[in-house]
Amino acid sequence: MQRVFVKLAVLVAASAGLVVLPVRADSRAAPKGPDEDGTKPALTRIAGEGMMNSHAFGFLTELSDDIGGRVTGTPAERKAEEWGAAKMRSIGLENVHTEKYMIWRGWTRGTAEGEILAPVRHKLHVDAMGWTGSTPAGGAEGEVVTVNLFDIDKEIKSASRLKGKVALVVMRGRPSKSGIMLFAQFGDLLKAAGAAGAIAVIGGQGGGKSSGMNLTHTGILGFNADFAIPVLSMTAEDQGQLERFIERGITPRLHFNVQNTFTNGPVETANVVGEIRGREHPEEIFVVGGHLDSWDLAQGTTDNGSGTATTLGAADAIVRSGQRPRRTIRFVLFTGEEQGLDGSFAYVKQHQAELANHLGNLILDFGQGPVKGFQLGGRDDLVPVFQPFADALSSLHPMQLDDHVESGTDTLPFSMAGLPGINMNQEPSDYNLTHHTAADALEAQKPDVLAQNATLMALAAYWIADRPERFASPWPAERTARMLRAQHEYEELKAFNLWPYGDLGAEEKKDNPQN
Ligand SMILES: [Zn+2]
Repeated sequence: MQRVFVKLAVLVAASAGLVVLPVRADSRAAPKGPDEDGTKPALTRIAGEGMMNSHAFGFLTELSDDIGGRVTGTPAERKAEEWGAAKMRSIGLENVHTEKYMIWRGWTRGTAEGEILAPVRHKLHVDAMGWTGSTPAGGAEGEVVTVNLFDIDKEIKSASRLKGKVALVVMRGRPSKSGIMLFAQFGDLLKAAGAAGAIAVIGGQGGGKSSGMNLTHTGILGFNADFAIPVLSMTAEDQGQLERFIERGITPRLHFNVQNTFTNGPVETANVVGEIRGREHPEEIFVVGGHLDSWDLAQGTTDNGSGTATTLGAADAIVRSGQRPRRTIRFVLFTGEEQGLDGSFAYVKQHQAELANHLGNLILDFGQGPVKGFQLGGRDDLVPVFQPFADALSSLHPMQLDDHVESGTDTLPFSMAGLPGINMNQEPSDYNLTHHTAADALEAQKPDVLAQNATLMALAAYWIADRPERFASPWPAERTARMLRAQHEYEELKAFNLWPYGDLGAEEKKDNPQN
């Protein structure tokens, strides 16, 4: 959900480069890959099923066409849960069930209409950001004033000037702080604008501007954050015209009619779970998944129908291969990802008692492109362990490895638990244009790429669960906190009240940035 963080961070300041760690020579035996650890025959059968008998694109077609957009907590998302559980049963997974939890508040999109009244008159292409409010019935009109995101403290202080106006977010000059902090503080600006009586705010996630031809980009504006003021994503073409008028000293006048609905209180949702039980250590668990929920401007194919279909396709390939791993592979379709990783945070909380028996998780949530690497979620110790397996995949695609923590998807709660929250890194392809937009439909996913991604997920899951030695155990909190600080996650987690470690790991921060 927070891909915008990455974009903003690049825009705002040079962010810390990823460290690809060298394999250290030490006294331990060299880690073994599939050729030496006995897993190769099973992996070969799984690869055959995955590549030559793939059902992943069929799963994605059903989810996209028959269910479509599925915002967490809505009837469509409930239908997706039932569909996901039914698919898991038909694939032949064991222990299929849903695990319910609540999100703080539900939201349903209504209509969003916009028009420029002066100096010219035409329709504006807008959509509401998720969990934002409505204009009065029939709409409201007012003049446009710009607010500079890069001078956010001053803008919040002078928010009273926004009364009766439409606030257009711009980025001018040099930013006063990091992209993450701007994203976090954007919520304060929205609250101040709402309290001042502004009609609406034009700005996407973190205040960002839309990209792509005639596309709006919806999304949430914080972790579990809602705002009473309407916040609108506008196409780059329409927004560009407004900006050009303002630069020429012309003040545009706009009319908006935006109607959305919040629930009065929390709403129920559920993660969907199914397993392939381990043959030797069924109590030891490796979690594999993607998120089932989506936004609602289109079918939610690439975000994250692709991850859902990859997960189900991986499960299908393993079951059909007839192979049973030493340890349990637990397939989880998370919901609530788009609202703040709510499903994966709920999972970690609900399974606290058995987290010590977990080996980590593996997530695909970067859309439709080919997998090109694995990010091991903070666990630099596992890079050399994983390397021989990654090398074994090189005939499918060269694989890059690093220990980067991906905080924008359901890997984060696992990394925060000291486990490897492994992100399958993908070619960016057209994902920046399809996710959260009206272009997120089945046309965006190539079936052969999906089949290959599902196969890679199946192979990685099976190898991790089946290799003779246990792949990973959770790190203690102190070591995890130190790692998260070294990976520059502290600032973001603290800003969103998600940092649970207090001062743990702080003293190491400056001395040794790598670990
Ligand atoms: Zn996603």
